[in-house]
Amino acid sequence: MTSLDLKACNKCHVQVGIYKRDYSGEILCKACFLISMENKVKKTMNSFSMVKHGDKLAVAVSGGKDSLTLLYILNKISQSTASNITAITVDEGISGYRDESVQIVKEFCSKLKIENRIVSYQDLFSIGIDEAMTARGSTKISSCSMCGTFRRRAIDLLAEWSGADVVATGHNLDDHIQSFFINVFSGDIERIGWSYPAPVEYGTRGIRKVKPLIGLYEKEIIFYALQRGIPFQSIECPYMHESIRTEIRKFLNQLEESRPGLKYNIYNSVLKISDVRLYLCYLVHQIRSEISFL
Ligand code: SF4
Ligand code: ZN
Repeated sequence: MTSLDLKACNKCHVQVGIYKRDYSGEILCKACFLISMENKVKKTMNSFSMVKHGDKLAVAVSGGKDSLTLLYILNKISQSTASNITAITVDEGISGYRDESVQIVKEFCSKLKIENRIVSYQDLFSIGIDEAMTARGSTKISSCSMCGTFRRRAIDLLAEWSGADVVATGHNLDDHIQSFFINVFSGDIERIGWSYPAPVEYGTRGIRKVKPLIGLYEKEIIFYALQRGIPFQSIECPYMHESIRTEIRKFLNQLEESRPGLKYNIYNSVLKISDVRLYLCYLVHQIRSEISFL
C-alpha cells in the first residue's frame, strides 16, 4: 500500500484517494476523478461553444484510448442533450495494427448501441498506407503527413455521409501543444491560428470540427479509460516514429516530470497565441475582400 492509498480524497473527503494530480496537488478518489474528467470535457465544450442542442455528432474513433474515451464521454453527456451520435472509423491499411483496433471499435460501439461507419483508404483512394509507403519515391514525405491528408478527407466524407453537424476528434492537450511546436519548427504559422478550439464551419453543409478532450492530459485519459474499463489498442502504429512528434513528445514529458503543470502553461499560452492569430487572419481576409470590392 502506498502513502496515497491512505490519504482521503480532497473533494469528497470520504473516499480514499487513488490518483494524485501532480500539477495541482489534488488527491482524488475514483468517483471524483471520473467526474472531474467529465466536467473538464463539458467545460471545454461550453467555453468554445462546440456543440449546440440537437446537433448530430460524428465521432472519429480509431480504437485508441483518446477516441474511445471521447466516444464514451460524449455518449454519456448526450443522454441529457438528446444529441445523436455516429462513430466514424478510418482504416488506413496498416497491417498488424489497424485490424485489431477496428475490431475493438466495432465491439465497443455495439456495446454502447452506437452506429459505426467504417471506410478504408483502399476504398476511397485505391491505395492503403503500407502500399503507399512502399511506392513513395522519397522519405522526405513522411508517412504521417501523407496519412494525415488522406485521413482528413476520409473523415470529411464519412461526416457528410452520416449527415453530421459536428465532427469530434480525440485530440488531447499533449497532441495540441506538440502540434504547436511542429508548426513553429516547420514555419507553418498559418496553422497555429487555425488550431484555436472554437469551431469553424466548413464545406457546403457548414460542418464544424471540435476537439472536446483538448484540455485533458494524455496520461489522465489513459487512467480514465482504465478506471472505466474502456478497452483500447495499446500497440503503436509502426510508422509513428518517422515523425518529429515523437521527439517533441518525449521532450515535453521530461519537462513536465520535473516541472508539473508546465504543459498546462504551454496549452494556455498556445490558446492565447492562436486566438490572436485567428483574429489577425480574419482581419487580413476582411481587408482583402474590401480591397477587391473597391
Ligand atoms: Fe497514420 Fe502516422 Fe497515425 Fe500511423 S501514426 S496512423 S501513419 S498518422
Ligand atoms: Zn472523492
